[in-house]
Amino acid sequence: MRLQGKTALVTGSTRGIGLGIARAFAREGAAVVVTARSGKDCQAVAEEIGKEGRRAIAIPADLSKSEEVRRLARDAESALGGRVDILVNNAGQPRVAPSVELPEADYRYTLDLNLNAYFLLSQETGRGMLSRRSGAIVNVSSVNGTLAFPQRLAYCVAKAGVNMLTKVLAIEWAGQGVRVNAIAPGYVATEMVKGLAAKGILDQERLSRRTPMGRLGLPEEVAEAAVFLASDAATFITGSVLTVDGGWMAYGYL
Ligand code: NAD
Repeated sequence: MRLQGKTALVTGSTRGIGLGIARAFAREGAAVVVTARSGKDCQAVAEEIGKEGRRAIAIPADLSKSEEVRRLARDAESALGGRVDILVNNAGQPRVAPSVELPEADYRYTLDLNLNAYFLLSQETGRGMLSRRSGAIVNVSSVNGTLAFPQRLAYCVAKAGVNMLTKVLAIEWAGQGVRVNAIAPGYVATEMVKGLAAKGILDQERLSRRTPMGRLGLPEEVAEAAVFLASDAATFITGSVLTVDGGWMAYGYL
């Protein structure tokens, strides 16, 4: 029970990595706000967690829209008894297209969802954390925050921004009890990756071969890193970007 008595807001928690994190946080004793665009999906996850005897509240929001991001922060705070102890910025998605053809609307959407929502939610929930001199933010970035992949310009720019957002907030808030860290997953077997593979945009076999561990990661493996960074096991860790990638970033051979 590494998060006993804590409250948490986990974005994009109806599937994939976010769902893994919401389940792990609830298992470790946190009350969790589950959020994504679909109210039905949020409700289903909240009920599943509730059946395990844990507390989860469904609050849908479209995080590509700043007014919805701010509303989510307010609603989550009141649903969680006036305090969000842990924020996990996770909802994200790439738009894949050659840069020369990437529509401006897709570029802007990708930055709004993958970077700007992270900033706004950190700011909104960070105020309460700073006033209580206690809190932890975990940003789900990507190996794409460091490594350039073709046809993912906006996504790579956003994730690089997430890494720097993490570091700037971390050093500003380090003396006030609020820690800010990021996780950079390699390829993880989620609906997003399966969807891209089904469209022929990704080849899961090749991705497994490129990963020194020879396989894709599991949402549960990323969730364990998020529990660690959010918990009191990480009290001297802030401004870190932790890779959870089966060795992808370390590999530089053929
Ligand atoms: P996913 O597509 O399986 O799940 C994404 C979640 O975000 C879903 O709950 C979805 O409903 C929600 N979401 C999407 N658009 C939204 C919007 N506009 N408003 C609110 N919620 C929205 O994705 P995933 O693979 O679990 O990825 C989660 C995070 O991990 C993302 O930030 C992604 O960039 C990052 N990541 C994933 C991988 C991977 O291989 N899967 C690798 C590196 C980083």
